[in-house]
Amino acid sequence: MSFFWGTSEPAEPVAVEPFDPRSEMPTNGRLGHLTPEQTAALAQFKQELAAEGYYDPEKHDDYILLRFLRARKFDLPASKKMWIDFQEWRKKWNVDNTVTDFDFPEWAIVQQYYPRFYHGVDKCGRPIYVEQIGLLDIQKLFTITTQERMMLNHVHEYERLILYRLPASSIKTGVHLEQSFTIMDLKNISLSQFYNAFHLVREASTIAQNYYPEMLGKMVVINAPMLFTSLWLMVKPLLDEVTVKKISIFGGPSSYLPELLKYIDEDQLPAFMGGKCNCPEGCEHSDKGPWSDGSVPGYPDPKFERLRDTYGIIPKKAPATN
Ligand SMILES: [Zn+2]
Repeated sequence: MSFFWGTSEPAEPVAVEPFDPRSEMPTNGRLGHLTPEQTAALAQFKQELAAEGYYDPEKHDDYILLRFLRARKFDLPASKKMWIDFQEWRKKWNVDNTVTDFDFPEWAIVQQYYPRFYHGVDKCGRPIYVEQIGLLDIQKLFTITTQERMMLNHVHEYERLILYRLPASSIKTGVHLEQSFTIMDLKNISLSQFYNAFHLVREASTIAQNYYPEMLGKMVVINAPMLFTSLWLMVKPLLDEVTVKKISIFGGPSSYLPELLKYIDEDQLPAFMGGKCNCPEGCEHSDKGPWSDGSVPGYPDPKFERLRDTYGIIPKKAPATN
């Protein structure tokens, strides 16, 4: 890992060393690769959850149960507690119905103050998720929404990832996919912003760790300023070792591009990040991917595009906030 201030170097052609990221896709504890002990643990997990009314074979496939088992290293009581907490949390926040029920009229303006988007897939076929956290304007963000609504929106997006983007991506690649590739862009981040962003990111990480375990395939942090090094060293011990291994941190384009291009084809990476994609409506607004490009039968599905279709018109200029 290397850390630089440099965030404005021009992108230059980058030599990409031969590397197949699919070789990094984990198999341990996954269907088709289970040990006899893991198979027995899965069966018992289902039996115990069913006995307590927390298992519905219509809704809960082996993939999701195994994510919770792996997250607790196949320790049954710990996995069970995690699963039951997850189910109770879902009830409390009506998560089962978020795709159809959650309303978020502030969608487009939130996008301006906190740009986040899906764009393309990596070489494994996993959806690429980008957060431009350096562009976060938290003061303006919280004039139009609340921390709780941001959390609900975050959960809504997780559910769309699981029920919509990942299934489309899986059909496209012919391989079951349950993880995404995240690019966290810290370009232009300031110290105060960092402090504010830290709380948002921490809440998002807690939700991810507690309720959406084992879904991060890889995270590349780009345009990281030097100060990020010490903050990262502070946060690192709070994260589990497996998660830490998936995260790599880079400075400007000359350091991050070789890494990104190991995992992502140029045509899937926006030109403003050093790739070759220039979606007509802007890569940050296009939502390009197998779920939306018409290449997979049954996609896009209006049910899952509801908020975007209703509120997704990005105003040219943010309205005055005071
Ligand atoms: Zn694009």
